[in-house]
Amino acid sequence: MVEAQREQQEKKPAEETKPEYEFGGPVGALGMMIGFPQLMYYMWISQRFYHGKFAAPAAGQSWHDFLVQYFGYIIEYATPTKFSAIVFATFVAAQLFFYVTIPGVWTKGQPLKHLHDKQLPYFCNAYYTFYTNIVLALLLHVSGIFKIYLIMDHFAEIMTCAIITGFAFSIGLYVYTLLVTKDYHRMTGNHIYDMFMGAPLNPRIGIIDLKMFFEVRLPWYTLFFLGMATVAKQIDVYGHASPQAWFLLIAYFLYANACSKGEDLIVPTWDMAYEKFGFMLIFWNIAGVPYSYCQSALYLYYHDPSEYNWSTGYNIFCFFLLFSSYYFFDTSNGQKNAFRKQMAGDNNIRKTFPFLPYQVLKNPKYIKCKNGSTLLISGWVKYARKTNYTSDWIQSSSWALICGFDSWFPWFYTCFYFVVLVHRTTRDIRKCKRKYGDDWDKYVEECPYLFIPYVF
Ligand code: NDP
Repeated sequence: MVEAQREQQEKKPAEETKPEYEFGGPVGALGMMIGFPQLMYYMWISQRFYHGKFAAPAAGQSWHDFLVQYFGYIIEYATPTKFSAIVFATFVAAQLFFYVTIPGVWTKGQPLKHLHDKQLPYFCNAYYTFYTNIVLALLLHVSGIFKIYLIMDHFAEIMTCAIITGFAFSIGLYVYTLLVTKDYHRMTGNHIYDMFMGAPLNPRIGIIDLKMFFEVRLPWYTLFFLGMATVAKQIDVYGHASPQAWFLLIAYFLYANACSKGEDLIVPTWDMAYEKFGFMLIFWNIAGVPYSYCQSALYLYYHDPSEYNWSTGYNIFCFFLLFSSYYFFDTSNGQKNAFRKQMAGDNNIRKTFPFLPYQVLKNPKYIKCKNGSTLLISGWVKYARKTNYTSDWIQSSSWALICGFDSWFPWFYTCFYFVVLVHRTTRDIRKCKRKYGDDWDKYVEECPYLFIPYVF
């Protein structure tokens, strides 16, 4: 096997044959593969059985008894049942069906070195798919065929289905790529690490690009449905939903909608062209993102609304923070993406909801780089090169703020995402310095601030 990998590597362009360890190498990869599911169960158990406090032995309870109780919760409440398996499988199958049946637009990815600069075609219909999902979920809920809050009632069982699928699919795809398609890239020869990072680059089933499918649809639609389930449950139990539950539903809607409407703009990014499709992306998107980023929804779901009955002023502040950070998040991504399209000679801007002012820059200024590419120096980058990250992080903070400070768990996403964004920034700067050389220094001179205008 190692010999076959080596032969395959030798056929690939030089740039592809220098794999570097990231994420702490094989030890870090193994740690994350074991640690992520444990963390997800721990957070759910703490939220459900410890009132949002850290799960730990009660006064006088031995560690042995605590652990028996802890794993008892998993066996009793998180073991998949036929019902939860059907719900999970139906959701994934429906998304696959929508991918191939709902109208959309075609776009092309970056030229791929290993395919001799060929640009893969991508079919993008996530925007209409998202709205189809919403209408169908509402119909199923209102008609009583499937009450949407059942996904919250059976949260841990469905999460286990996602965890098992994430592992099975990652291992299956890795072995299939090694043995059958042999379309593997930048392999180190260490199976743990290679499975974590992935073997294939752009695996497909017909027109379905699996990486796009996993990144855009599964995590964010699941998160949106969990928000919808929280609102539906409160309406069912109390006759109305709390402003906090509505807040989260709107926040999750905005995020899932932004990913859906920006699908064709994700296609030409580095992630699509460079990042391999392994455990990191597969598990994270099918299980990690939806079932760990949803801690705010779990908090609202497991607590009586009287426990988070904030003042009108505080609620308004949270909404203001959400909408204003969303505005900068959407328009900063929009400005760069529209600029890239304009530079590629495509002035056809797709007007999807919400189409915000200043999303497309008129006559933007830019640096013409020696490598033939361009770097935008107008718009929000002038004030902070990563306005999109800063505003996205503030947005994540608003999701936590709406739950207050009684529990740490709604803050998980905000804290974790901070680390993710710092890591992505260092990776991106390293990549851009390599790609643009001196021109990157010129760009940094023109746009000196990274995250916070006039400060940092
Ligand atoms: P960016 O949108 O910042 O993309 C970085 C790339 O853009 C660079 O590698 C470079 O690529 C290009 N670029 C950088 N500066 C310029 C410029 N001045 N002009 C033109 N092109 C430029 O980062 P991401 O793709 O990581 O993130 C996109 C959005 O997705 C962000 O808002 C982020 O917050 C969000 N996100 C959310 C995640 C989540 O889990 N919630 C995870 C990851 C991202 P090149 O030169 O090759 O075109």
